[in-house]
Amino acid sequence: MAGLTKIQHGIYYLAGGVNCGVVQTPDLGCLIIDTGNSEDSGKKLLKGCKELNLEPRAIINTHSHADHYGGNAYLVEHLEIPVYAPIFEESILHYPLLEPMYLWSGARAHRELHNKFLLASASPAKVLNEPGKRKIAGLELILLEVAGHAHMQFAVQVEDVLFAADAVFGEAILEKHPLAFMVDIQNAKDAIETIRHSKANVVVPGHGQPTTNINALCDANQAALERASQAVLSACSDVGTTPEILERVCAMLEIEMPDLTRYVLNQTAVLAHLTYLEEQGLITHQIIRNKLIWQIH
Ligand SMILES: [Zn+2]
Repeated sequence: MAGLTKIQHGIYYLAGGVNCGVVQTPDLGCLIIDTGNSEDSGKKLLKGCKELNLEPRAIINTHSHADHYGGNAYLVEHLEIPVYAPIFEESILHYPLLEPMYLWSGARAHRELHNKFLLASASPAKVLNEPGKRKIAGLELILLEVAGHAHMQFAVQVEDVLFAADAVFGEAILEKHPLAFMVDIQNAKDAIETIRHSKANVVVPGHGQPTTNINALCDANQAALERASQAVLSACSDVGTTPEILERVCAMLEIEMPDLTRYVLNQTAVLAHLTYLEEQGLITHQIIRNKLIWQIH
């Protein structure tokens, strides 16, 4: 899709695989929120800003997944603008290999994981230590902590528009991906409630359609998380190793994993649910004859 879509006066987004925000600053520049998955998305953002005579002044990345900061390198090289990212996540912008590496259990990542969904060019980044009110490029905004999908993640609220990052997904995305990527289920649940209580009128999810029906969006996201947790719990009815639990969950949710990228993303999500369920006292783990196995408590 070409060009920026207006949400309200001075607030726009570039629709795509990842929604990127563009917010006018008081000096007729603009702040960019996330830059998409490639140099191409960086180019589209810059073109869209130029069409509105808005010169980018700064970038905020909501979290460090490569599909949200892949346009940084192009924009930074051409505009020399500062980049801001939440604490912890900023380290991955500096060292992008960390993302495929942590998905590969910390070993040097398999070459197949070196793709644009998991690995972007390095970007400079200034650290945003805390959520709360901030002024960036002269623009007043509120950062909301919404970790859970990533180890740290900030949603960005400007006036009554909330760029929610991947704390919530559009409803069509939830249907297509019943096992959303998560690293911490309790944090993810809390993040959805933070979005619900933000007092925003419009929520722009990282993936999917912007909506004014925030309660319905939050309800759908809580329900999807609960469904995934229940699938993992019932997969533990029979003793199983992590790969066996993953296989059973995929069968229940009708998920196909055609490549290593999908496999490691789903494996991490299942591990997040397993950790959560054990912390809830619902399952336990044991290592028996060198096998890590899970079962209902
Ligand atoms: Zn993400």
